[in-house]
Amino acid sequence: MDKNKFWKVGYLVLIAVGILAFNNRQISFAKVVNKDAKNPLPKNIILLIGDGVGISQISAHQYNGFNKSYFEWFENIGFQKTHSADNLVTDSAASGTSIFGGKKTNNTMVGVTPDAAVVKSLFEEGKERNYKAGFVVTSTVVHATPAVTYAHQLLRGNYQGIANDLTECDFDFMVGGGGKYFDRRNKASAVRKKVLTDKGYYLTDTEPSPKKLSKEDKIIWFTADNDPPYASEGRKYLPGASQMAANFLKQKSENGFLLMIEGSQIDWALHANNGPNFLDEMKDFDNTIVRMLDFALKDKETLVIVTGDHECGGLAVNTGKKFKDLKLAFTARRHTATMIPVFAFGPGAEEFTGIYDNTDIYFKMRKVLGWE
Ligand code: MG
Ligand code: ZN
Repeated sequence: MDKNKFWKVGYLVLIAVGILAFNNRQISFAKVVNKDAKNPLPKNIILLIGDGVGISQISAHQYNGFNKSYFEWFENIGFQKTHSADNLVTDSAASGTSIFGGKKTNNTMVGVTPDAAVVKSLFEEGKERNYKAGFVVTSTVVHATPAVTYAHQLLRGNYQGIANDLTECDFDFMVGGGGKYFDRRNKASAVRKKVLTDKGYYLTDTEPSPKKLSKEDKIIWFTADNDPPYASEGRKYLPGASQMAANFLKQKSENGFLLMIEGSQIDWALHANNGPNFLDEMKDFDNTIVRMLDFALKDKETLVIVTGDHECGGLAVNTGKKFKDLKLAFTARRHTATMIPVFAFGPGAEEFTGIYDNTDIYFKMRKVLGWE
């Protein structure tokens, strides 16, 4: 090799090493966690559901944040097919039953098969296996998405029946609206309140203090009587309550914990075709995602999964000249049937790449938890 050629080759090698090093820096996040993980499998799972969130929703949110979002921190990304047993377009009851129970069912059905057999949820089984479990939502605690983790009803609108089921679920930390189903305003609500109190629950309609968090074993924080307000109307609790839930469940658990967090009202803003409210709800949800990623990064034993339950609004992101110059177009005031993304981070995250049915999310979670 002549001298000239030697330097040329050397130069090219240097550039290649530089490019590799730069890329490695970008992909370091998940690798760091997996390398340091005490165990290649997760002890805990935090599953965040952005109700109604598909690819366009994430794109719009990303542009709205000057082309940045915490969704970018994930490296293991897949797609789920959301259709229900009786329709290409699912509702949140059927899709939630699939994600948390591994069975396709008909729209409106909560935790039951089309022929009304009970579908035990991952969270219910977790309780039997001595895990701690809980959820934080921005809907009422009896709305379809939280309900699929503990209830078994033919109709998602049977809030009384779902509220009764809640008193039997034994979950450790629950946050959401719907306090009116568990207070003294009528006989049924008063009975539920008594059942929960007798079981040792601390029921509160204000944020639990640090003292209560360390003293109490089971907490329900009702953030509203009915539906909590939109983020744009001053609702702020989702990121903080989610952090509180993760810390609480970790502190109280030996075996591990399962936590569901829902940005419930993203879907409601999409149904209303309300772009500004939708973007505010996405921001709130994303601010919750980063808290959970931070928790997982420190904990090293927690798998964080972020997905939706279906697309809503048939959203398109049309031309604009700048990132903030968003032209959102809605093609529907209801859900659509498109596949939606699944993001996973932490031990076991690789399991969630590819294209699969929403029911597979349940089976993948079981697999990485080591449940056979
Ligand atoms: Mg929901
Ligand atoms: Zn909806």
